[in-house]
Parts: sequence; C-alpha cells; structure tokens
Amino acid sequence: MNQRGGLRRFRAPAPAPEPAPPEVERCELCGTLVDPGHGHVVDLEHRSIMCACRACYLLFTRPEAGRYRAVPDRYLHDPARQLTTAEWEGLGIPVGAVFFLRGADGLAAFYPSPAGATECLLNLETWTELAANHPLLGMVEPEVEAILIRAEQAGVECYLVPIDACYQLVGLVRLHWTGFDGGPEAREAIAGFFAELRSRVRPLEPEG
Ligand SMILES: [Zn+2]
Ligand SMILES: [Zn+2]
Repeated sequence: MNQRGGLRRFRAPAPAPEPAPPEVERCELCGTLVDPGHGHVVDLEHRSIMCACRACYLLFTRPEAGRYRAVPDRYLHDPARQLTTAEWEGLGIPVGAVFFLRGADGLAAFYPSPAGATECLLNLETWTELAANHPLLGMVEPEVEAILIRAEQAGVECYLVPIDACYQLVGLVRLHWTGFDGGPEAREAIAGFFAELRSRVRPLEPEG
C-alpha cells in the first residue's frame, strides 16, 4: 500500500450511522497484515513514511539503524512554559499552523497547504533564542519527530509530535481545502485534528 493509502485512516471521520468496514493494511516492509494501531517508519532515502508491523518497527527503533527509522509515538506539550503570542510573532511566520523538522540539512519549517507540505523561511537565530526558553523545542528527535505550532486569536499551541501526525495534517488540508481560505470543511477537519491531538498530549515532565 502506498503512503497516502496507508495514511487514509487518519482522515477526519465523517459522522456515519455505521462504522466503515476496516481497511486492510499491510506492513510495507514485509507484507504482514497490520492492525489500525500499527506504527510507522521513515524511509530517509525517499523521505516517505511506511506502515510497519511490530517486528519491523522494533528493528528500526535504534538511531544507528540506517535507512529506516521508527517513528516514536510520544505526544508532548509543556504547559508550564507555553509560547506567547509575542514569541510566535517574533518568528515572522505568515501562516497559522506550521511544523518544524530537523533533518540532514538542519532545521526546516513547513506549513500544510493545498499543494502539500510547503517550506517557509525560518529565522534560525530567533528559533535558537526561543528554544533556550522552551526546552520542548530542543527535544525533537531528528527525522522522526516535529514541533507543531498552531497560532490562533485565542493563543498559541505548541506540541512535540511524531512526524506521521504532520503528514496526517497535511493530508487533511489537501483533501478538504477549497477556495482562498480553505472553507468550512477544511476548518472543521483542522479543528478536529487539533482536538484529537489535545486529547493525546502529555505534559513534559519537569526536570530533576
Ligand atoms: Zn513487517
Ligand atoms: Zn500506516
């Protein structure tokens, strides 16, 4: 199953009177059937995400594993040191939702758009200053985790998430976006994504 097919289950579920029949998914490394809670590995060579059975997933949990790397399943936030609106505005990012990844080429910022994940300019100096005050930003494991920030009038949300969650958000935006501003369907899908995210995140343990 290709990457988009494998991630289809992440799309915002439409309220249906009957549950949809479960989709058959396979490990993209060995072909074994996997259940809906299966893990993912990143293929660093092709910059893609693959569905993995437990055995294959565990093979790639060590950082020295080479081409493939298991995506961790932690979702963290830091309620004691939240980003302020002023700090967010200091980054100068013109969109309301963005994720930050550390890869072989260093840190990069992307936002979900109807065309997919789109890179945006990042002021590294500002980011470094921000990371000094917000340890969560520095905890991201390269290639497999991201910092996801959403800025709204109500405030700024900042999470450390597995990279597949960002792919999920990108997929939702591509699927539902209409017109200039996304339209109500996209807004609803994005709101649903963040509601689910909020229910999964755990607070960062205080140091010591
Ligand atoms: Zn497998
Ligand atoms: Zn999958």
